[in-house]
Amino acid sequence: MSMHEDYNGGHLIEAAVAYYNATGKRQLLDVAIRFADHFGSLFGPGKRHWVTGHQELELALVKLYKVTKEERYLKLADWLLEERGHKHAAGYTWTDWRDTAYAQDVLPVKQQTQITGHAVRAMYLYTGAADVAAITGDSGYFKAMTAVWEDVVHRNMYLTGGIGSSGSNEGFSTDYDLPNERAYCETCASVGMVLWNQRMNQLTGDAQYIDVLERSLYNGALDGLSLSGDRFFYGNPLASNGQHYRREWFGTACCPANIARLVASLGDYVYGHAADGLWVHLFVGSSTTQTLGGQKTAIRMQTAYPWQGGIQLLIDPENKTRFGLHVRIPGWVREQAVPGDLYTFVKTGNVALEIKVNGKPIAYRIDKGYAVIEREWKKGDVVQVDLPMEVKRVTAREEVKAAQNRVALQRGPLVYCVEGADNNGQAWNLILPDDAPITAGFRPDLLGGVTALSFTAPTVEVAPDGLSVQTRTKTITAIPYFSWCNRGQNAMQVWLPRKIQEVKVNY
Ligand SMILES: [Zn+2]
Repeated sequence: MSMHEDYNGGHLIEAAVAYYNATGKRQLLDVAIRFADHFGSLFGPGKRHWVTGHQELELALVKLYKVTKEERYLKLADWLLEERGHKHAAGYTWTDWRDTAYAQDVLPVKQQTQITGHAVRAMYLYTGAADVAAITGDSGYFKAMTAVWEDVVHRNMYLTGGIGSSGSNEGFSTDYDLPNERAYCETCASVGMVLWNQRMNQLTGDAQYIDVLERSLYNGALDGLSLSGDRFFYGNPLASNGQHYRREWFGTACCPANIARLVASLGDYVYGHAADGLWVHLFVGSSTTQTLGGQKTAIRMQTAYPWQGGIQLLIDPENKTRFGLHVRIPGWVREQAVPGDLYTFVKTGNVALEIKVNGKPIAYRIDKGYAVIEREWKKGDVVQVDLPMEVKRVTAREEVKAAQNRVALQRGPLVYCVEGADNNGQAWNLILPDDAPITAGFRPDLLGGVTALSFTAPTVEVAPDGLSVQTRTKTITAIPYFSWCNRGQNAMQVWLPRKIQEVKVNY
């Protein structure tokens, strides 16, 4: 039980709950219940102590509680969380022979303030803690998670929303240690960031968590999947000399299944609702029907995001009804790259955002990162939001050594990279001057249709004599990070040198 058994058991429960919710069929749910009851007959208050080897069972038990309404599953999840950090289970568990920091088992969860160890284990742990806290109202978990979240986002997250820079422990090392080519950045850890940040948003109503969720979703997580849908990255580096490529499968096959279910469950992340309000978290062509202000209300979203910033919301209540429509204004619109100051945009000054209802600009208030439009809605109302989509330059804090004297590019939620496939096989030989204009254009022919960036830049190349180098000016193409490595193995880079000293030329 000390390795992945609890993890696998948790995923069995999750699969059973998903299957039951989708089909109403109980076969697999009954199997999951037998597993959970068996586990609960061995472990729990007054029984054996236990620390799960790879967290996941905690959040799965909360899902089982929600579908069965059986309190014992919620209590078991809470108990498993409380077991960590006490060394109760000495002699039995994973953490006896591995570093306890690896499995977030140094301190009780409620006393934790620092992110440590294995990144995916940590994400599942805090997601489970958030799920329990959401039901029990336990502020101890929430306080700990807020501190740990800040430790992750302020000091230990890649620009792509990926986490866990170190391959040796598949996890965290020291603050600001964020190497590019050696970035581990497991796909599952980015998926875990999506799971955890959704819970943090649900607990607080704060859009800053969706900002991080969106960054991890569109960049660190989505990169794990090839455009063909059948090749996978386990690690997601931010620079490559061509040694990286997506594979069909892995001996430890967590990432393929995890990214597949994340994409399939995208609908769970788009909207939130309460009796008197609808929240639009993500901008995805979609529809939902909710009871808002007592009236069944259909909402349809039409958008070409993230390629374009136009978002249209069609509101159709059965009868007139009053509710608040909360539309997330992404942090990148307000020129805040990430919560905290790990990464900063070079300011463009364009943060004006107009929202129209039925063609007329309207006043709105901002609450926790959402534009709130409170009014009486009627059938056929149309809300139009236009997010400004300029290309932004990003820099990192000076403690991030791997990004020093470098700049990255972001447009909307997408982080960009330069890939050899677009640039004569080279991606490491260019300088992006601070004053070089960057243009964006949609290219239907490229990578299934992406908005590409282009700019003119000095490149350093081997001269025809083969002995010296020469500088030439070239037009460089940058593509969304998630779409790289779909045209064979080749060089790639996210953080581009601003100075010639940072350029590396392959002889
Ligand atoms: Zn994985």
